[in-house]
Amino acid sequence: MNSPSHIPHLPGAGLYESSRTVHNKRIDGPFRRFKWLVMLVTLAIYYGTPWLRWDRGPYAPDQAVLVDLANRRFYMFGIEIWPHEFYFVAGLLIMAGIGLFLVTSAVGRAWCGYSCPQTVWTDLFQHVDRLIDGDRNARIRLDNAPWTWGKVMRRAFKWAIYLVIGFWTGGAWIMYFADAPTLVYEFWRGEAAPAAYITVAVLTLTTVTLGGFMREQVCIYMCPWPRIQTAMMDEKSLLVTYKDWRGEPRGSLKKAEKNPGAFGDCIDCQQCVAVCPTGWDIRKGPDISCITCALCIDACDRVMKDIGRPRGLIDYATLEDCAREQSGEAPRPAWKALLRPRTLAYLLIWSSIGLALLFALGTRSRTDLTVSPDRNPPFMLMSDGSVRNSYTLKLRNMENRPRTMDVALERLPGATMWTGTQGKDSAAARQRVEVPADQTLTLRAYVQAPQGTRPTELAFRLTALDEKGESDVGETTFDAPEQ
Ligand code: SF4
Ligand code: SF4
Repeated sequence: MNSPSHIPHLPGAGLYESSRTVHNKRIDGPFRRFKWLVMLVTLAIYYGTPWLRWDRGPYAPDQAVLVDLANRRFYMFGIEIWPHEFYFVAGLLIMAGIGLFLVTSAVGRAWCGYSCPQTVWTDLFQHVDRLIDGDRNARIRLDNAPWTWGKVMRRAFKWAIYLVIGFWTGGAWIMYFADAPTLVYEFWRGEAAPAAYITVAVLTLTTVTLGGFMREQVCIYMCPWPRIQTAMMDEKSLLVTYKDWRGEPRGSLKKAEKNPGAFGDCIDCQQCVAVCPTGWDIRKGPDISCITCALCIDACDRVMKDIGRPRGLIDYATLEDCAREQSGEAPRPAWKALLRPRTLAYLLIWSSIGLALLFALGTRSRTDLTVSPDRNPPFMLMSDGSVRNSYTLKLRNMENRPRTMDVALERLPGATMWTGTQGKDSAAARQRVEVPADQTLTLRAYVQAPQGTRPTELAFRLTALDEKGESDVGETTFDAPEQ
């Protein structure tokens, strides 16, 4: 079998390869149907999610998934992430990264072949081509035909559809950042923020350019991911493989029939190349041009069926299995390649992080306090000898209902406090405050300690006065003259 090449295919000696249009042929088969499914699900999720509603009560937005930049919140169904909880987002990103490692080490570039946005949108644009211009041969004919009015009108119509797809893609993106129905209304009335129009324009252009025109060039020449992925694959990874020991020497069906036993199973019909969305010939071996979408497996299996030979001349296989099969052993079921120490280790790390995040999410407090002492001046010496420090308190009520909270002083005996709103007359060791729903209340707090107090540690304890009684402690220092 061909040895794997993880180096980009560089035909010709020129500095740049001239671009060639890929007119991939329509194919049906299990992998194509799976690709349809992934495409429909991912597009439905992308375009439909901003329209899902989620009732969070009267004090929070009812959009199920929302990045609320103005209020610095991220909502995802029943989960609300505040800025100081960004570690949840970081955890999800780490899980996504490890998930990609897991998938790549198990089934090669399955992400590229099925669910990468570049792949999904390229596939969508290729279906538009097929719908407007016909299948491969008709498209090649039209491409080579002179520019007549008919061709101009057909191209204009197709590119208009490209623009509509690009526009919907950009339009869906901005809806993740504002209430979708309100934004649509404001957008069409010209009342949305300029950033919304600029974002839609930029995403329309990039979608049409990358998915409509550049297509496989992005995967082959621009994207860094295939270069990284090759480091994660080994001889135990499942890859789309042409079994050259079975297919070679290749020859047409006619030649093979005339010379029984002289040719392998490949009848050189080029169907595997014709259906490939990147135009790669898998018979040359693995390459960065192959996104492992497996459509060539569908094409070749169909050919093998038509000529009465066993399926699997092109198949998912590991290098180890290929060597085994080549030496005459029976092929191993592909799923067996999935269960091995490396993939299980990735799975263990991935699921541990997921469980840790779920645990942290389930046990996190919805009450939070941060304390910042004033440092200019650090303290004030009063006429009666007592010492006063000032602090800025941030009280977070992360529940979607207003709550009464208690702020108490700890570790400083004899000290009293009052807030900027309540005044010194209310000075006491604890204060009661109303914190609005889903908000951060900023308070100025003044703490006065008796004469003779020296620099010491101080803590504020915030306690929600409700059935849960959650609390949080903000530690700080109390400054005073060194005596
Ligand atoms: S589809 Fe199969 S038989 Fe036809 S050229 Fe490709 S590998 Fe050979
Ligand atoms: S060579 Fe086969 S698996 Fe690779 S991109 Fe082309 S059709 Fe997909």
